[in-house]
Amino acid sequence: MPQELTVPSATEIIELADRVINDGYMLTTQEGKLLLEVEPGSEAFVALLAGAARIREHFVGDKVHFCSILNAKAGGCTENCSYCAQASGSSNMDYDKHRWLDDGAIEQAAASAKENGAGALGLVAAWRGVKEGKQLDMVCDSVKELIETDTIRPDVNLGILESQHCADRLKEAGVKVYGHNLETAKSFFDETCSTHDFEERMKTIQYIKQAGMGLCSGGIVGMGETKEQRIEFAEQLRFIDPDMIPINFLNPLEGTGLEDRKTVDPDEALITLAVYRFFLPEKNIMVAGGKEVTFGDRLHEVLGAGINSVMVGNYLTTLGTDPDAWHKMVGDYGMTPHTHEDVAEGPCSACGE
Ligand code: SF4
Repeated sequence: MPQELTVPSATEIIELADRVINDGYMLTTQEGKLLLEVEPGSEAFVALLAGAARIREHFVGDKVHFCSILNAKAGGCTENCSYCAQASGSSNMDYDKHRWLDDGAIEQAAASAKENGAGALGLVAAWRGVKEGKQLDMVCDSVKELIETDTIRPDVNLGILESQHCADRLKEAGVKVYGHNLETAKSFFDETCSTHDFEERMKTIQYIKQAGMGLCSGGIVGMGETKEQRIEFAEQLRFIDPDMIPINFLNPLEGTGLEDRKTVDPDEALITLAVYRFFLPEKNIMVAGGKEVTFGDRLHEVLGAGINSVMVGNYLTTLGTDPDAWHKMVGDYGMTPHTHEDVAEGPCSACGE
């Protein structure tokens, strides 16, 4: 790629994809920024998506991992994340609030996630972070119970961890993957939340890794960050080296701090996914929340932008796409679902076990 600041041509993008595949070339920050400027509908745009699909095929194959989440404790969060309906400052009341679900409800959700083809069910809690003591004991008991049923792998997403001991306890209970998003670039984080900071998130990630759990960590595109910050975010993802990277697109829900934002343009969203595949070639990249409102009837196109994982079922406070529709889209695109047998036999795309 030339050094001057021009958006690469289709030929240059094809060559760049070849270098990533054949030479293990790692894109520079500057190259990432220029790729984000590719014109939708141009030959370069087509080459970018095709290159991302080739890189995905080469490094992570054609299987699509499905994942589901359950709002195991909903509402009443003390934190003020501006994109979140469960945040302390949010006036969005249009969802069911409840304490940590009992084992029966969790097992029912696990059975339904399995039926939907999900390889794992993330138990998510609207807390600043799980607290040691009764709360952590309760979560560990739920995880152990669910493992006993042998229905589906329980992952957890319990917010900021206050100590290494907390992470070790979860690992001992059988948690293989902990989900904890960076959310956005470090330089933009303070504009999205003031009740905790980026460093606290990084510290939690350190505890997760030190405990030996797999890390699922990504973020949200479209909160008002610049394109430069989208690449800065990708650089930080390179640094923390997650096993799975969920990319959400902002769904600007009424009553949240970001209710006035527009959804990301679908072409821009495809370009962002494709550039992340170029930038993080060997990673499992999941398209997660906000995809329905962002892509609309073009949802199937995400499969051509280099992703190899999809969140299926409903989100924390909003509905998602019918899982059967995803299975059809994956088949139509010539990819194959990552089955339970794959997860059972391993290595799992998210936890490596
Ligand atoms: S994103 Fe999590 S920590 Fe932030 S307000 Fe929502 S539930 Fe709370």
